[in-house]
Amino acid sequence: MPSRFFHQSRRSSRRGNPVHRYIRMKEHSTDRVVGYFGFPRRRILREARERFGSALPLVDLDVDLGAGDSLVLPATTCRIIANIVDNAVHLGPRLAAVVASVGEEKCDRGRHAAYLLARMGFTVIESRFPAEELEDRPLVYARARLPLREKIDRIMATVVDPAAPAQGPVSCSPTHGFWGVPPHDPRILDLFPETTHVYGWVRCVEAGRPSDVELECLVDEGVPTVFFTQSFCAKQDLAHHLAEKHRGLAIDCHREINDSILAKVEAFVRLS
Ligand code: SF4
Repeated sequence: MPSRFFHQSRRSSRRGNPVHRYIRMKEHSTDRVVGYFGFPRRRILREARERFGSALPLVDLDVDLGAGDSLVLPATTCRIIANIVDNAVHLGPRLAAVVASVGEEKCDRGRHAAYLLARMGFTVIESRFPAEELEDRPLVYARARLPLREKIDRIMATVVDPAAPAQGPVSCSPTHGFWGVPPHDPRILDLFPETTHVYGWVRCVEAGRPSDVELECLVDEGVPTVFFTQSFCAKQDLAHHLAEKHRGLAIDCHREINDSILAKVEAFVRLS
């Protein structure tokens, strides 16, 4: 079983150092964790931590943590949802609670996963992002000159700690765009130049507007953009529409990115 990684304090980000969203479980004296998925309201996440132990590490269950297949879900489930359930089953009683994003900021399958986990005996705390809590935070990372993988990692870390870094990265004009959610297999991100801007749901996360479809569909004109979705995700409807509109490249992937997808994206990035 590969090592599992858990959320780390993001103090380092305020000093401008790279953020590590995950740290090794064995680095903690306690074995229990609080899990979350999607973009829960920060107040609910904070209250859950206070209730179950502020010192407990947070783990983002959306991410591939190396858990085996729990066989709870059909094969045609989006890989992110499968990660959530597989990770929870693997953690078992070490999972003190799951703070589950089940509103419009996530998707039907997130709500279903929360339902199933509760029926399996996990303590599930549901969170729905109300419209009046949507923010308008500055886009520090989505438009930054940084490796794309690091950029997305830093944006997703703002779900837990939205504090702006003391010295933010330099922004740049976009030469390319990446639209979508954080991919299950992040290797695809390494194909893009540092001048790639982030669009789609990840940009909505940084703006603090995770259920804002208008912002999710906002893409700068003339920027060659890859519209990425996990297979079996309803966001493919948006990706298809936007790729046609902006003459971008729509791709979807289920588990690991295969050579054919890598070659397609690499060619698109190089030739556009
Ligand atoms: S990729 Fe799509 S289906 Fe999967 S969790 Fe995200 S929004 Fe839901």
